[in-house]
Amino acid sequence: MKELKIHNWTLEVDVKKTYEQYKNEKWDLCDCTYCLNFFQAMKTTSSKLTNLFNSLGIIPSKCVHLSEFGPTESGLYLYMGCYHIIGRIKEGKPVNTSSWDDHNVAEVDNFSFVFSKDLIFVPEGMPSPVLQMDFSVEVPWVIEEPYGT
Ligand SMILES: [Zn+2]
Repeated sequence: MKELKIHNWTLEVDVKKTYEQYKNEKWDLCDCTYCLNFFQAMKTTSSKLTNLFNSLGIIPSKCVHLSEFGPTESGLYLYMGCYHIIGRIKEGKPVNTSSWDDHNVAEVDNFSFVFSKDLIFVPEGMPSPVLQMDFSVEVPWVIEEPYGT
């Protein structure tokens, strides 16, 4: 386990094992247009965001739980979802999606996230301890299929 400091949290993360989970081809990924757009858009992230994902072992274009909330004023598309990590919170309070506020949410570019102890949609076979990262992010529409089809 590697110790990481992110925002108000100190985490212990098994980066290698987490990455191995993301690399497997067994996950049941949704193939609706909204999800496919997210997967494609998250293949190219800013260097800051790429560093964050790399430090945790996450492949951001693979996400088992996503909701899309449509176009925003900025012309981007709002998504909320969660990533799972093998690790635990060593210090700092876990935050639920329902208790987000300006102080307990971390931000890297337009990617906002918290670490939660609530576990939903954990991919099958993911070894414990599992830590959940809940996020919201706005991404462009990048695939050929038009929005809403
Ligand atoms: Zn979908």
